[in-house]
Amino acid sequence: MSKTYSIAIDGPAGAGKSTIARRLAKELGYYYVDTGAIYRTVAYFLDLLGISPKDVDGVERYIDELTVEIQYDEDGVQHMLMNGIDVTNDIRTQDISQKASLVSAHGVVRGVLLDMQRDVAKQHNVIMDGRDIGTVVLPKADVKIFLTASAEVRAQRRTKELLAKGQKAQYEQILKEIQQRDYQDTHRPIAPLKMAKDSIKVDTSEMDIEQVIAAIREIVERKIPV
Ligand code: C5P
Repeated sequence: MSKTYSIAIDGPAGAGKSTIARRLAKELGYYYVDTGAIYRTVAYFLDLLGISPKDVDGVERYIDELTVEIQYDEDGVQHMLMNGIDVTNDIRTQDISQKASLVSAHGVVRGVLLDMQRDVAKQHNVIMDGRDIGTVVLPKADVKIFLTASAEVRAQRRTKELLAKGQKAQYEQILKEIQQRDYQDTHRPIAPLKMAKDSIKVDTSEMDIEQVIAAIREIVERKIPV
């Protein structure tokens, strides 16, 4: 098999990882893999069964009943299949964000999903975003970016985004949820959110999307042929 290239983008919730990764993937002709969506699918499945994301026994008992698949439509949009059912839109709620953060702390969940993520990167050029891509999933990624911004800026962006979609959004509440997720994601014992040693930090607090894209493209072009 010929060499595939991989770009890892890690960072906290709301840093703009998916927006940036999706755009860059399109520009470069790479697959975009949103790994958060995989954890969200697990959280959604357990939620339907009424299993609390903190229930270690419940999570361990039911995780084997779940098959998670990633599919791409003709526009390159990633769809998540939960036992064959497309749940792409159902997993995008604030409630599932919190539950995914709790579910993803279980070693058994991370173990089951690890090979699946690595397999995509073996077969395709990928831009993969998440929390542990540069540290655990693809430690040999060709480019590693740590995308971050202050919690306040991230909460402002999320609030605007939800309001633009016509959904309810309250800044203070969103800030609280972001801070809680940051805490959970950075303090879990297995694969916590942290910057890989060879990762390049991009703080987007004072940058707009075009500036971030340009900065990351420059980093990418220094490291891989595009
Ligand atoms: O990125 P997104 O907000 O969709 O991720 C949802 C949750 O999934 C995160 O809060 C995090 O706990 C978990 N996650 C993870 N590892 C990844 C991607 C996401 O633990 N690689």
